Amino acid sequence: MKIMSINAGSSSLKFSLFDMDKEEVLASGLFERIGIDQSNYVIKYNGTKIKQEIDLPDHSVAVSLLLEKLVELGIIRSLSEIDGVGHRIVSGGDYYKESVLITDKVIQDLIDLKDFAPLHNPAHVLGINSFKKVLPNTPMVAVFDTAFHQTMDEVSYLYPVPYSWYEDYKVRKYGAHGTSHRYIALTLQKELKRDDLRIISCHLGNGGSITAIKDGKCIDTSMGFTPLAGIMMGTRSGDIDPSIIPFVMEKEGKNASEVIDDLNKRSGFLGLSRYSSDARDIVNGVLEGKENCILAEQKFIRTVVSYIANYYVLLGGCDVLCFTAGIGENSVPFRMKIVEKLACLGFKLDIEANQAVGGFKKISADDSKSLIYVLPTNEELMIARDTLEIINR
Ligand code: ADP
Repeated sequence: MKIMSINAGSSSLKFSLFDMDKEEVLASGLFERIGIDQSNYVIKYNGTKIKQEIDLPDHSVAVSLLLEKLVELGIIRSLSEIDGVGHRIVSGGDYYKESVLITDKVIQDLIDLKDFAPLHNPAHVLGINSFKKVLPNTPMVAVFDTAFHQTMDEVSYLYPVPYSWYEDYKVRKYGAHGTSHRYIALTLQKELKRDDLRIISCHLGNGGSITAIKDGKCIDTSMGFTPLAGIMMGTRSGDIDPSIIPFVMEKEGKNASEVIDDLNKRSGFLGLSRYSSDARDIVNGVLEGKENCILAEQKFIRTVVSYIANYYVLLGGCDVLCFTAGIGENSVPFRMKIVEKLACLGFKLDIEANQAVGGFKKISADDSKSLIYVLPTNEELMIARDTLEIINR
């Protein structure tokens, strides 16, 4: 069966088409700058890559063109070969604890949840409606970034703030990257042939989050009401004292959303290093002895290690520490420096094995108290798997 996995943003549309019999990617690509100038698309298939600049006034045009190209390039013979479409959804609030078949009610819920993901949920709805137009009879499934974290108990998800904020406005921790953390948990359970693992999953990309998982369920996660909370990230601050916000508003004559914008887009690696949001640049800056990069690197490591230590205690130990996403999968020095700081908890790397880049690999030393793995995440495959499972029910 062939399943399409879709991630629709406000001006972009990312897709992967899977042959689910072999869980193989038949084609993948990105439509960018939808609704603005210089819109273009890239489609990769069969070792070939095509790229074209073309007018994409809205998501519907992008989706029609994508489907047209899949047939034209011979990737599928006809649109009827697409058995289902899975959509990545940033926020399911506390409505959705798992993936669901998309109905009109689900679409309305996504619209109602827009306060929790103002940039993302409306874009997802655009993506869903565009597919509905061209493939009206093809089942579609919503896969939520927040769903995996719905197993947190109230001690984890409540903030110590007036309870009425939760009752009246649903102010609570929702978390993000849930599809990635779920993929990590399921893959480790399968590979290690154990369901009862205590896992600390470190999704370290441009955005980053750490999740404590027990018996395949999320116990706690570092992102919060929004993805701004938790560890330091590429351009996001992670946890800070909220009193800083009105203080800077007054000093700089800004309103709250402008300061939140600073915390989302001009903080993290970029803010502290005053150099780059990209971890590779920070690593190179450290090698060149740039003090601001050294500081940014140290702060990042400090926040990551704090969460790992926190979750180690919460889980009563750790069977597997797992690194994933851009930094987690590829950065040998970041993994090394993080694990070095965890030596007091018995974590120890195999220095040689840690040189690995890409692929699923054990990188802990034989005398490490916990296993340490690198595991490339695959949110697209997780979306396709959920879609297949739900349409087959
Ligand atoms: P996102 O999906 O959140 O945009 P990714 O998971 O693609 O992010 O991760 C992007 C981050 O991974 C960037 O900071 C990038 O510098 C970092 N990264 C990728 N490769 C390496 C590497 N070899 N060394 C260090 N960081 C890397």
